[in-house]
Amino acid sequence: MRPRVHRYGRFMIARRTVLAAGAGLTLGACGTASRADRDSLLAASATSTTTVDALAADTTSQEPIVIALTLHRLLDDGELGTMRTSGELDDIGQRINEIWAQANIVFEPLLVRDLVVPTAVLAPIVSNGNIDPLIDAFRSSIEISDPGVFNGFFLSSAFGVNGFAPSGVRAFFVVDEPTVHDERVTSHEIGHLLGLHHNADDPERLMFSGTNGTTLDSVEQVVARYIAQGVLDGQR
Ligand SMILES: [Zn+2]
Repeated sequence: MRPRVHRYGRFMIARRTVLAAGAGLTLGACGTASRADRDSLLAASATSTTTVDALAADTTSQEPIVIALTLHRLLDDGELGTMRTSGELDDIGQRINEIWAQANIVFEPLLVRDLVVPTAVLAPIVSNGNIDPLIDAFRSSIEISDPGVFNGFFLSSAFGVNGFAPSGVRAFFVVDEPTVHDERVTSHEIGHLLGLHHNADDPERLMFSGTNGTTLDSVEQVVARYIAQGVLDGQR
């Protein structure tokens, strides 16, 4: 699977290098090993009332696909946690839904929760995107409040990128001061979770790297709905 880390600027570190530090399960998106990890980390908490035939190109005329999304403020007792307020994340959530309305995908319920973790758990994410300690913490000691089907985690910074979506988990990470709009980087990372890859041709597109573009073309809308439906149906 192609790397899904989203990077900007001159720190062109290969994704394999970034996540090589003991992050095997985050790399094995297509393997069975990562499936169990992902499911235990982020168990689906919503069911779908939509049908698979809601996948035609004219997505806005189809039934909305509704997915539970929880945005977590990652907090620690140091300075690696987010400085964002709950109100700011609520606001980002509203604007995410405006962008994803193009595909008639609705993130609901859209919850904002605090998640306090040890600094030692955040440090590897900040330095190189290694989420293994966070996953271990979820397994052993930290209970995640009201997880959504998808989960966004906000933290101070992450190895020079605006955000990233590790392979194999239904989770993405967004930093406090991205170089693009907050709702844009968040929606872009969700796009990765919904199977979309980068577009290199049009800066107006959501999946172009490093711009404030928000457009989804018809193919992207269909793919995102297909993936979303598969997730909700437990087929993915
Ligand atoms: Zn990206």
